[in-house]
Amino acid sequence: MSTIDNKIQQLKDLGIYRELPINQGPCDAIINFNGKDIINLSSNNYLGFANHPRLKKAAKEAIDKYGVGAGAVRTIVGNMDIHEKLDDVIAKFKHEEAATVFQAGFLCNSGAIQAITDKDDLIISDELNHASIIDGVRLSKAARAVYKHSDMADLEKILIEKRNQYKDVLIITDGVFSMDGDIAKLPEIVKLAKKYKAMTYVDDAHGSGVLGKSGRGTVDHFGLNGQVDFIIGTLSKAIGVVGGYVCGSKSSRDWLLHRGRPLLFSTAMMPAAVAAIIEAFKMLEESSEYTDKLWENAKYFKDELVKKGFDIGKSQTPITPIMVGDEAKTMRFSKELLNRGVYVSGIVFPTVPVGLGRVRCMVSALHTKEMLKKAVEIMYLTAKEMDIVQ
Ligand SMILES: *Cc1c(COP(=O)(O)O)cnc(C)c1O
Repeated sequence: MSTIDNKIQQLKDLGIYRELPINQGPCDAIINFNGKDIINLSSNNYLGFANHPRLKKAAKEAIDKYGVGAGAVRTIVGNMDIHEKLDDVIAKFKHEEAATVFQAGFLCNSGAIQAITDKDDLIISDELNHASIIDGVRLSKAARAVYKHSDMADLEKILIEKRNQYKDVLIITDGVFSMDGDIAKLPEIVKLAKKYKAMTYVDDAHGSGVLGKSGRGTVDHFGLNGQVDFIIGTLSKAIGVVGGYVCGSKSSRDWLLHRGRPLLFSTAMMPAAVAAIIEAFKMLEESSEYTDKLWENAKYFKDELVKKGFDIGKSQTPITPIMVGDEAKTMRFSKELLNRGVYVSGIVFPTVPVGLGRVRCMVSALHTKEMLKKAVEIMYLTAKEMDIVQ
């Protein structure tokens, strides 16, 4: 144990050791931390579905019908009719041929990337792709290359240099990048993929339920439906529950049901979660009020921050970084904001490059204008005291 204890001591020495905050109730716009009400600007619960009465009702009814556990992996007897129904609901919503639900977004990347690539193939990945993509790529036998963030010239350079040395090539990108809130240049990526006969794979964890018509995602936002080979989404962020899915062709679904290891070796999703998710997609099909409210709030919040002189980087989505720079200062800013009733997480190296520390604000449809206004005021006063704004 002494090795681990030493490593923990190193974290403490660097000032980056942390205790987990404990939320005493549901994930809402105001949360209760250690007995104190805090404006929550840190959840991925974009649409407020995590504690929505319609989802809760659907989950309770499913418990009465199906019990609490699926009892086995999907490929044995854990595949209930409601799991199949959810796959269909998602495929229809996304205008794709087929969808396959996994128990987490993380597990989609653990399972799908290794299932669709082999030792004669090449994976080309954006340097800012999510950790679950990086881990998923490590599980594949394929060769790897990394292109500079959203740099299409660099991506093309790699394709020119390496395309002919490999059988299949898979280009992987986040749809929306989680630390900066910028959107992938999908139209150009799809064009390059066609030109060099590569496959495309978009992890749209932060785009699904956020971008596109009623939250249909980044691919829909660009009108590229049917032109991306694999689209991954989470059911744990905007959808508010847990799980993930891989959309693509009917044959890619067949293949994942044979080679997607998390489907073969980890128990199927809890039926109550599946029922709640089906209800969430029903709500999105019925109305764009949830996504409209999210974007209205995001626009208001970002405008207010810019008016106060904050640098919000290159955000194009509700993910709003406030750039601070220095690592220790970033962490102090985040801590002070929590003392004053606003929770935004501090994000520093190694999650982002050295010197690009920021606090990351996540706006949701649940916030009221008053909450957002109050949060901006607290941030401004604190930032002024700390010389983060003029
Ligand atoms: C959050 C996230 C995941 C993981 O999703 P979970 O459903 O929470 O496991 C995967 N990929 C990206 C890009 C993410 O942002």
